[in-house]
Amino acid sequence: MKKVGPIVNGKELSSGGGTFFDVVNPANGEMIAEEACCSTECVDQIVASSKQAYFSADWQNMSPADRGYYLLKLADIVEKEADELIALELEDTGKPITQLKDSEIPLAVAIIRFYAGAADKIEGRVKSTSGGAFHFTTFEPYGVVAGILPWNYPLVNVAMKVAPALAAGNAIIVKPSVETPLSCVAFAKLCLEAGIPPGIVNVSLGSGSTAGQSLVVHSDVKKISFTGSTSVGQSIQKKATEQMKSVNLELGGKNAIIVFADADLEKAADAAVISAFVNAGQLCVSCSRLLVEKSISSEFSAMLKEKLEKVKVGDPLAADTLIGPMITRSQYNIALDYITEAPAEGCTVLAGGEKLRLSGPHSNGLWIRPTILTNVKSGMKVATEEIFGPVLSIIDFQNEAEAVQISNDVIYGLSGSVWTKDGARAMRMIKALQTGIIWINCMLNGYPQIPVPPHKMSGTGVELGIEGLIAYCKQKSAIMAYDDRAPVGWDIQ
Ligand code: NAD
Repeated sequence: MKKVGPIVNGKELSSGGGTFFDVVNPANGEMIAEEACCSTECVDQIVASSKQAYFSADWQNMSPADRGYYLLKLADIVEKEADELIALELEDTGKPITQLKDSEIPLAVAIIRFYAGAADKIEGRVKSTSGGAFHFTTFEPYGVVAGILPWNYPLVNVAMKVAPALAAGNAIIVKPSVETPLSCVAFAKLCLEAGIPPGIVNVSLGSGSTAGQSLVVHSDVKKISFTGSTSVGQSIQKKATEQMKSVNLELGGKNAIIVFADADLEKAADAAVISAFVNAGQLCVSCSRLLVEKSISSEFSAMLKEKLEKVKVGDPLAADTLIGPMITRSQYNIALDYITEAPAEGCTVLAGGEKLRLSGPHSNGLWIRPTILTNVKSGMKVATEEIFGPVLSIIDFQNEAEAVQISNDVIYGLSGSVWTKDGARAMRMIKALQTGIIWINCMLNGYPQIPVPPHKMSGTGVELGIEGLIAYCKQKSAIMAYDDRAPVGWDIQ
């Protein structure tokens, strides 16, 4: 049985002063680790360690290029230790091994390399040199920042928080979900191996209400970057506002893939199936609504059903498995409730619609049959609420205006995907859809350099891209007089 504990100043603690949590493999129900959770006092100790490390000579005197060098080393080490990280993530999340190998490890490494290269490209601006004064802006790190993570992509999410925070010169405390701590703790150890000073990447473990909230309210934590549900994001923002803390929130989504009759239907159907069901639908940007033009609705639904029948759910180690288990028991129950209640709302189950019972070693896993619902109308629960499970709701539309209206008729605004061969229509859709990311004739492509700016109740701020690096910096304006023309008091120029 593994034991996993908080990371403080380069050391893993055997106890965090709180309770111990049983970490379970969702693919077979077996307990895989005992997690030492943090008390508030332990979080205080972690913050003190981060503060000391941030103000240490080693970190303050390091040039941005050197920070980039350490991040490059970290990326190489993550790549070298990929098998170990995959093994941990496999046990902790039950994700298909192919997804981890071909997609999540390469993405985590690419994100770290991108921010390694960006570390020495944080540039202020010279605004004006006239009137006897030199005006310019600079960017500075916040100091100690916290990254609070969900359970759906533990390794990718920790890379997404740590790399830009360090590139900008901060010290970071990461708080993974209590359900999925293993790769986060391993990642913090790899940061030490890369030569990043102890205390610059610390890890707080445990529940949101203690290990997470203690970070949010701590006066020495100057910025919170949170990825998780909208309800928790709202409560964090309220708490952080009391201290005027900077907050970045990447929250829920109810994203739509919109298919017009003129689209390449084969490709659109492939995209809809992958997007709706990858990671068992537990992906913030995946499409859980399919809006399809009425004239092709029956034909397209039949194509989807046929494609879905070929998709393999189950053994995470099988190379052809596309869909793994639900990662947590509570999320499994929530998704099943939506599925079983859908017919009462008037929907028809086209595919799936129930638990999946596997035999053998995976018989105790959290499996759900990927589910497609038809006859869904805008406003129904399955069309408006984030399920975060393998459920795709199909809604018909008559024309472009109605597609826009249905797509925007949710509180969320994370991503969207439009399939059409009409370039002008694609441009109109980009303008009309109220989401932060829009894919045209593609879906889910993500790159470290492309920012993710959530709209509406999907969050605030931005992650990834150079914009996501600047989000870890405070801006400063300086006005430096160089001769007597510079006014000493109020002056408008
Ligand atoms: P969650 O909101 O329940 O928990 C996220 C993290 O917040 C966990 O580490 C949890 O312990 C912590 N937390 C809970 N309460 C807290 C509090 N009061 N103070 C501080 N921390 C607290 O989310 P989840 O169930 O882990 O993940 C699923 C959700 O995450 C979905 O809504 C999904 O859409 C969202 N998500 C969004 C993105 C994005 O980029 N927009 C990415 C992944 C997941």
